Amino acid sequence: MNRRPLIAGNWKMYKTCEEAADTARKLVEFLSKPPQNVDVMVAPPYTALSTVASAITGSCISLGAQNLHWEKEGAFTGEISPPMLISCGCRYVIIGHSERRHVFGETDGEINQKIKAAVDYHLVPILCVGETEAEREQKKTFSVLDKQLEKGLEGLSPSELIALIIAYEPVWAIGTGKTATTDQAQEAHAHLRGAIEKKLGVDLAKSVRILYGGSVKPNNIASLMALPDVDGALVGGASLQADSFRDLVFYQK
Ligand code: PEP
Repeated sequence: MNRRPLIAGNWKMYKTCEEAADTARKLVEFLSKPPQNVDVMVAPPYTALSTVASAITGSCISLGAQNLHWEKEGAFTGEISPPMLISCGCRYVIIGHSERRHVFGETDGEINQKIKAAVDYHLVPILCVGETEAEREQKKTFSVLDKQLEKGLEGLSPSELIALIIAYEPVWAIGTGKTATTDQAQEAHAHLRGAIEKKLGVDLAKSVRILYGGSVKPNNIASLMALPDVDGALVGGASLQADSFRDLVFYQK
């Protein structure tokens, strides 16, 4: 199965509207002749979604959000709904990022509601899963991934999850400069694909894109992308500068 790679940039809580527009404009210029076989997405902070949407119009770059609330509207101060994201031009949404889980206490149940909302509104959900360092040391990596997948996707059918993207992001590798070894990454990705096959069938397991995230840089992306079960990268730090993000997109030398 030919899975089209996705290189996704998560800008987290960085960049004002002006800074985000400036980076987006540079990216559009750098990617004016993009590689044919790679999808590209950036997820700016909510406040910069509209300005970045304008800057990337007509380019190969798609827009993503870093989170969403599952309700359409209501008295939920500080939250953002799927129709709001769509009206800003979002196509993708990152759900269950480790910072949401570990800093803001997001639960698997909430993540499940967010995945369902993304599916209902035809946003492409990027479900983030990953173990902490302590869980890896205690040899709990697979059981943690199984639980996050099982609960995150509870109640959803293969046809509803046709666009699903998974991001394997070991918590100990995010923003730390420590990258999973190629053996560790391939083992986790193959495990996740196997778990999808058991839960949702062989067709979805073959087509689902599984991104790796955790200190991906221009100097290590090629070895990760060469792994059979790695279908792209979710990148924080190295996506913030247009030139390093360009180098990630052009990982095939
Ligand atoms: C992330 O934010 O999902 C991430 C992987 O960050 P970094 O690339 O900085 O480790």
